[in-house]
Amino acid sequence: MDKYCPNCKRMVGVKKNMMPGIITIVVGLLIALFLPFVCLIVGAPVALVGVVLLILGGSKCSICGSKT
Ligand SMILES: [Zn+2]
Repeated sequence: MDKYCPNCKRMVGVKKNMMPGIITIVVGLLIALFLPFVCLIVGAPVALVGVVLLILGGSKCSICGSKT
């Protein structure tokens, strides 16, 4: 999958970097499942961080690492 990178000023291959976000969401869900009382305090923010990571780290330039 190629995308134009304004930093590199050319078309570059975009690598999907979704694993950290997915892992963070799974960890948040596991905390919520096994620790019901802690889930609202810890699990929900952890899951939210995972969603943010998914959105921010969805596509990255393989050369300079900038998010296009
Ligand atoms: Zn780039």
